[in-house]
Amino acid sequence: MIKVKNLTKRYGQHLALDNISFTVEEGEVLGFLGPNGAGKSTTMNIMTGYIASTEGEVHIGGIDIVAEPEKAKAQIGYLPETPPLYGDMRVDEYLNFVASIKKVKSSERKQMVAYVKEAVHIEDMSKRLIKNLSKGYRQRVGMAQAMLGNPKVIIMDEPTVGLDPKQIIEMREVFRKLGKKHTLILSSHIMQEVSAVCDRVMIINKGHIMASDTPERLAAGLAQGHKMLVRVKGDKDKILSALADYSIIKEVKAIASRELGTIDFELSGDENIDIREAIFSCMSANSMPLLMMKSLDLSLEEIFLQITGQEQVAEPQTEELQATQTTGEEQVS
Ligand code: ADP
Ligand code: MG
Repeated sequence: MIKVKNLTKRYGQHLALDNISFTVEEGEVLGFLGPNGAGKSTTMNIMTGYIASTEGEVHIGGIDIVAEPEKAKAQIGYLPETPPLYGDMRVDEYLNFVASIKKVKSSERKQMVAYVKEAVHIEDMSKRLIKNLSKGYRQRVGMAQAMLGNPKVIIMDEPTVGLDPKQIIEMREVFRKLGKKHTLILSSHIMQEVSAVCDRVMIINKGHIMASDTPERLAAGLAQGHKMLVRVKGDKDKILSALADYSIIKEVKAIASRELGTIDFELSGDENIDIREAIFSCMSANSMPLLMMKSLDLSLEEIFLQITGQEQVAEPQTEELQATQTTGEEQVS
């Protein structure tokens, strides 16, 4: 559906995109993931014909965006980083205006505007002035305009920036629905954001594609059981001395536990060494009840930070770790 070939973009001396190539299949939901300044918006702006590349080609459904911009753009709905909204228009008025620009037939306009409003749940906002809407609703109006004309491809640049956690979760549902009918590309600098809804994640950093795979496969490449959080009942010093007999466990860090009479420990082995059995053997040989054991191996978030070479965020607290595990995909950050 989309072919991007040898794309390079320079802003003056600054190389924003360095010869990147990728393809997007029809119906795919692709996430661009990267820190600020990675080149996500630049890539999207070139793909949608907003700005020109320095070198390289983009084809949308076989059509060259530079050679036949109108024909290529007709297949794309775009929500840029700053949505192109007119504050003094009412939602209905604005969507009808965009529909006319997109050459939606006047006989179909009413139905299509109703359809996109329903898709992003803004029916109740129809008569409101855009400037009076909350950020979340303005963002939805931006999505609705991108959907007008029923384009094959929808591209959204950081669509959830500035939304609160509840709105973000609602948006995920909208993305999943959109992904069923359109080829969808969205960008984010938050891992969970893209891994929750995308078939594939492309990690971009400093104008390069660092990785491109399903969220599952990105996670599967990681070591299992090499870093564990355990809760043990008993005396801290006795537990520490028992652990010292197991050389496979390289690092031991004691943390206060919230449960009376127990201590939590962060234990790690060498890279790719599974220490779970050693932990079990150690505790059982010393009759120290092991009350909990869970993995602290790299999350997708941490892989992302590793790949992009960013500073690791502060070590999460035990409580937060548990929250992350129990809330699963509803977790947002
Ligand atoms: P992202 O969307 O991933 O945050 P951008 O594509 O906006 O990244 O930016 C990529 C790089 O190009 C950044 O270093 C940014 O400062 C630079 N850049 C983006 N737009 C311009 C511009 N109009 N003029 C000069 N530099 C720009
Ligand atoms: Mg951007």
